[in-house]
Amino acid sequence: MKQKKQQKAEQFYKKSIWPSIVLFLIFLGSCTVMPLTFANIFKEYLLDSQMAGISEDAEKLGQLFLPRIEEGDFSEAFSFLKMYLGEENDICATDADGRILWQFRETPPDFSRRERVRLIDEYEFMPDKDETGKKAQSALTMPPWQFLLRCIETLPKKYDKGRQWLKNTIFHEYYWVEIPVQDESYRLYYRDDVLLAQKHVYFLTVGVVMEAAFLTIPIILLLFNVLSSIAMQKKMVNLLYLDNDTGGKNWAHFQQRSKKILCQHRNLGITYAVVNLHMERYQDYCACYGSGEGEELLKKIYGYLNVNMESGETFARFANADFGILMRPDAGGQCENRLKKILAELTGIQKERALSFLAGIYMIEPQEEKKMHEAHRRRMLDIDQAYHFASAARRTIQDEKGRHVQVYDQQILDEQLWKMKVEERMEEALLNQEFQLYLQPKYNPADGKMAGAEALVRWVSPSEGMIAPYRFIPVFEENGFITRLDDYMVSAVAKLQSSWKIQGKKQVPVSVNISRANFTRADLAGHICHLVDSYGADHGMIELELTESAFFGDKQRLRKILGELKMHGFRISMDDFGAGYSSLNSLKDLPIDVLKLDMDFFRGSGSGKRGEIVVRETIRLAKNLDMKVVAEGIEHKEQVEFLKQQGCDMIQGYYYAKPMPVSEFEQMAEHDF
Ligand code: C2E
Ligand code: CA
Ligand code: CA
Repeated sequence: MKQKKQQKAEQFYKKSIWPSIVLFLIFLGSCTVMPLTFANIFKEYLLDSQMAGISEDAEKLGQLFLPRIEEGDFSEAFSFLKMYLGEENDICATDADGRILWQFRETPPDFSRRERVRLIDEYEFMPDKDETGKKAQSALTMPPWQFLLRCIETLPKKYDKGRQWLKNTIFHEYYWVEIPVQDESYRLYYRDDVLLAQKHVYFLTVGVVMEAAFLTIPIILLLFNVLSSIAMQKKMVNLLYLDNDTGGKNWAHFQQRSKKILCQHRNLGITYAVVNLHMERYQDYCACYGSGEGEELLKKIYGYLNVNMESGETFARFANADFGILMRPDAGGQCENRLKKILAELTGIQKERALSFLAGIYMIEPQEEKKMHEAHRRRMLDIDQAYHFASAARRTIQDEKGRHVQVYDQQILDEQLWKMKVEERMEEALLNQEFQLYLQPKYNPADGKMAGAEALVRWVSPSEGMIAPYRFIPVFEENGFITRLDDYMVSAVAKLQSSWKIQGKKQVPVSVNISRANFTRADLAGHICHLVDSYGADHGMIELELTESAFFGDKQRLRKILGELKMHGFRISMDDFGAGYSSLNSLKDLPIDVLKLDMDFFRGSGSGKRGEIVVRETIRLAKNLDMKVVAEGIEHKEQVEFLKQQGCDMIQGYYYAKPMPVSEFEQMAEHDF
């Protein structure tokens, strides 16, 4: 959506420049054409006005020669004409049929073959008789004088009285003057030229320059407008594609650029990789060193990537310290190796501060694309989707030590499909009561009696059968549905306690798991009270198990909530103590009643002599702090013996019993409680 808006804005800026550019071009065109047209018209006018006088002169000359020509004295007539015109001019006389009677100048004007063709084509001029009138001759081979006269004869009728432009320079024109003599029984021709007066040339030049100058002002203004619009557009587009934190290109730019690259290379058989590069604990980094330092770090990462990307690749920051990269792996596995190198170098980018980076890769294979039909193909080009897959791949190694790069594969796809399935079904499952309450008893090793139970959920799906919590709890924790499930479990336990109470059965204290997400609720204590009270159950029979992760964050708030819960009579236990981050500090600060030792204490490297010391000392610590201790995941008799010796209050594990349905649990409680 955002991307579309950005594209629209960009198009808008581009469009708004076009009218200015078109106007600019129109003005530029008219600036060249208009002064030239003006100059030409003006020049024509000046030459024409000069020529008008010449036509009159020609008639007068005709009158003057008439008596001489009648006498057949051509040479006298011509020497007079020569005197009148000057030595330079070509002169000739013809009879009414165009036969040359006399010509002045030995060398007639020479017409090249090309020039003849031009004149014939342009003026449709085709003389059909030679000078004797007997034999037709081709216009291309006839003697130059004859050709000239034919031109002169043909053209005046069609164009202008007696003149023919055979040669033309800008301010200097040649023309032929025809003088009809004695009712056209003879004709005299002479060639003359006309030159524009210097003052006219000046006048013309000044006019043209002024007109050009007049047009230049709007042109300059328009040019300025176009240039400033282009600069403005560049600025706006830069702003649209600017990431404020890194100072580089933003995600919208990455999306557009990637799509372009992928479309261009679609048919070239090139594999591209969409990468999610993630810096771990960026929020903690900002919390430690301040958001300013955080931004500096982002800039450094951006700068590093900028230098290390190759042509045809692009990248941008997505959010926090997550970057998307479109990478071109040259050969199989190269992308992974390159990324490993990049991650290793980024680790040391901030001196004296150890950073940790992870990367997920999603490969866009060209063959894969070709196989897909159009709709799917478009989806493949959805860069966000590809980035989402890359992030999913990266998340799978989030808690794995030693692995830094993960390629999206079938297993991850299966997990995603499963997640989608869970999310599709969860609401309906809750309504249909597919989530069932199981209870796992806790025993007191001192007397072997049942001392309590933990409520654990089981999803009994009509299609999938019994689904273990590890397959859906993480999904619910991610999408927030866990608070709904926890409410459901609290209600189920309260309902059970209340039914035991009503039936006069012995009440077994039951603990319920409360996920971390619940602590964002403003009135968690009030909310739980409301759920429990609606069934009339005793608060003292319900214990709330929090995992250690809930103890991070706003300690003061947590202490307040726990204080309220305790005030309402609920017991609080710290679940999975010893797994993950140690929170000994929490033991000191928070009102915890029960410590549940994580099952890892009794497995793997934690077992043996040293493990025993840790367990013993932890139990002692808890006792000193006035807490009860529950050991979880106990499967062997020796473990029970050892815990009993150490004064562990309760044991929960397969050694005594696995989690079971309520009816089964009730039967067991009859004997053991
Ligand atoms: P948890 O709260 O640590 O629960 C104890 C888990 O250890 C249970 O797994 C239980 O079946 C298992 N367990 C108990 N004794 C033994 C033993 O001797 N050996 C072994 N190998 N396992 C033992 P379960 O029921 O699969 O639950 C897994 C996790 O799912 C729970 O860990 C808890 O974090 C979560 N969970 C289960 N039910 C709920 C619930 O209703 N709400 C919430 N928020 N989380 C739940
Ligand atoms: Ca638990
Ligand atoms: Ca536990």
